[in-house]
Amino acid sequence: MRGLVIKNTGSWYQVKTEDGQLIDCKIKGNFRLKGIRSTNPIAVGDYVKIIMNNEGTAFISEIEDRKNYIIRRASNLSKQSHILAANLDQCMLIITINYPETSTIFIDRFLATAEAYRIPVKLVFNKIDKYDEDNLRYLDAVINLYTHIGYPCFKVSALNHIGIDEIKKDLEGKVTLLSGNSGVGKSTLINAILPEKNLKTGEISDYHNKGMHTTTFSEMFPIGKDGYIIDTPGIKGFGTFDMEEEEVGHYFKEIFEYSANCKYGNCTHRHEPGCAVREAVEKHLISKSRYISYLNMLEDKEEGKYRAAY
Ligand code: GDP
Ligand code: ZN
Repeated sequence: MRGLVIKNTGSWYQVKTEDGQLIDCKIKGNFRLKGIRSTNPIAVGDYVKIIMNNEGTAFISEIEDRKNYIIRRASNLSKQSHILAANLDQCMLIITINYPETSTIFIDRFLATAEAYRIPVKLVFNKIDKYDEDNLRYLDAVINLYTHIGYPCFKVSALNHIGIDEIKKDLEGKVTLLSGNSGVGKSTLINAILPEKNLKTGEISDYHNKGMHTTTFSEMFPIGKDGYIIDTPGIKGFGTFDMEEEEVGHYFKEIFEYSANCKYGNCTHRHEPGCAVREAVEKHLISKSRYISYLNMLEDKEEGKYRAAY
């Protein structure tokens, strides 16, 4: 039988079969993954085959190839990684331009990491009920920037149920990771989408603050028609993605586009002569804020301390 892993409690996996049954399964045999040393061989979002033994216990016997997955290093010192989720269709980053402020550097680092993982991102700007005229003008400029680069944007108020139906509709039929800094209204948004789940607001962020990153537990919540959202304490965003210095520019879509015309193939777009990216920044064809975020990510690499800050 084929099914989708929707919950992982450490030793058990809950699998939703194609005919809609929920079956608790154990793992049979040894699942070693090529290329990564992982503390868990199977993650939510994995498609698996299950078989029953004579006593009626279900076992996962096979994992299908993943189209993508996100991982987190088990601990700072460890070389082992933990697979947080597999086969994501998209990610929604919840942003507030104020109360609290989400920096463009944070947004751009998130977007670049998502590009590296090959996960499409949509940006959800929350708390629009709260902004004054200046905030709203800035919001429109930011939305204009990201829409232009190719990231769909939504304006919502989770508290006042503005724009929520559109989000709901977009979540249908997809596996979506919800991310965002604490305080941006992630729990409020989930409550607005799924009133029956009834998360206490602040619950998720409290979890983070206490450092309770339980790495063995994750879950996908069904939403709408064949949709799932992943919102797990401990999954605030993506894990680490190691990239080479000259690779960073590949994950800024518009920088990558212009870099085709740089004089040197391995141009890092800082001080090299004949750099088409710097020229585009000067001509305002590439936004300065995006270029600054790009440099910010490069700096981390130089200091040899690159790790995604979310
Ligand atoms: P989380 O940390 O991202 O889960 O954020 P919460 O959902 O706990 O929300 C943090 C605070 O922002 C709470 O006081 C919410 O009531 C408030 N909040 C969330 N969404 C909105 C919104 O759309 N408008 C306003 N004005 N406040 C909101
Ligand atoms: Zn260049």
